Amino acid sequence: MEVGFLGLGIMGKAMAENLLRNGFRVTVWNRTLSKCDELLEKGASIGETPASVIKKCKYTIAMLSDPSAALSVVFDKDGVLEQIGNGKAYIDMSTVDSDTSSKISEVVTKRGGCFLEAPVSGSKKPAEDGQLVILAAGDKALYEEVIPVFSVLGKKSFFLGEVGNGAKMKLVVNMIMGSMMNALSEGLCLADRSGLSQQTLLDVLELGAVANPMFKLKGPAMIKSNYPPAFPLKHQQKDMRLALSLGDENAVSMPVAASANEAFKKARSLGLGDLDFSAVYEAVKGTGGSDHAS
Ligand code: NAP
Repeated sequence: MEVGFLGLGIMGKAMAENLLRNGFRVTVWNRTLSKCDELLEKGASIGETPASVIKKCKYTIAMLSDPSAALSVVFDKDGVLEQIGNGKAYIDMSTVDSDTSSKISEVVTKRGGCFLEAPVSGSKKPAEDGQLVILAAGDKALYEEVIPVFSVLGKKSFFLGEVGNGAKMKLVVNMIMGSMMNALSEGLCLADRSGLSQQTLLDVLELGAVANPMFKLKGPAMIKSNYPPAFPLKHQQKDMRLALSLGDENAVSMPVAASANEAFKKARSLGLGDLDFSAVYEAVKGTGGSDHAS
C-alpha cells in the first residue's frame, strides 16, 4: 500500500518511519523540506508539495501542529485541495478542534475525496513503537480500508461516528491529562517546600489508587528539571485552549482545566513552549524560562 505523509514533527516522523519499517511505500512532505532527508535514507520518497503527495498516493495522512497548520496544508497554494478528488483519501491525525476537522471534511468530500479524522492518544515512544490509540471519525468505509495502516501505528483504534467526535474525544483526554500534570507539579512543589522527599512522594503515589504511567514516566525527570520534548508544552496549551472552548460551547464549567491552562500559558510566557509539557512544573515552582515565548 502506498501512503502519503504530511508533517514530520516528533509524531509524524516516528509514524512514517514505522510505516516504512512495516513494508508500506511512503511518500513524505514537510514544510521544512530538509526534515525529509532522514526518511529518504530509510526508503521514503519525497513529495515537493502536499498537492504532489496527494496526486501520487491514494491515501494521505497528515500530522500537523494545530488548526492553522492543518487548514493551511489543505487550503493554501499547492495544498491538498488542488489534487484531492475521486479515489483519493485524506486522513488528518493532527489534534485540532471539531470545527477545523469539519471544514476540511467538507471541502475534501465536496471534491469527491474521502475523509477521516484520526487524532491519537500516546506520545513519541508509543508512536515509535506502534502503540498509539487512534480516535477516528468520519467515513466508516475508509476507516475499514485503512485498518492495516492503523494496526501498524496503534495498539487500538476507535471509530467514533461523525466527523468532530474524534477531535472532541482527543481534547477531553488531553484536558484531563493537562490537569493531572498540574496536580503532579503542585504536589512535587508542596512536598519539596514542606520538607518531604519528592522521590518518596512518587514512590507512595505509584503504590496507590492514583498511580498512572504518566506520573511514573515524567515524575523522576521533573525532579531533575529534565524536559526533552516528547509532547511539546505549546501543543498541550493549544489542547487546553481548544478543550476550554468546547466547554464554552457546551456550557460546561471547568475551573480545574481553566486553572491548568493558565499554568501552561505562564510556562509559555517563560519561554518553555518547546520543552516537554511536564516543564509546566517550572512555572508552578515559579522558576525557569528564557526570553523567548513560544
Ligand atoms: P511538532 O514536532 O511540533 O511537529 C509539528 C509539525 O507541523 C511539523 O511537521 C511542522 O513543520 C508542521 N507545521 C507547523 N506549522 C505548519 C504550517 N503552518 N504549515 C505546514 N506545516 C506546519 O508536533 P508533534 O509533537 O509531532 O505533534 C503533531 C500533532 O500531534 C499536534 O497536533 C499534537 O498536538 C499532536 N499530538 C502530539 C503528541 C506528542 O506527544 N508529541 C501526542 C499526540 C498528539 P516544520 O517541521 O516545518 O516546523
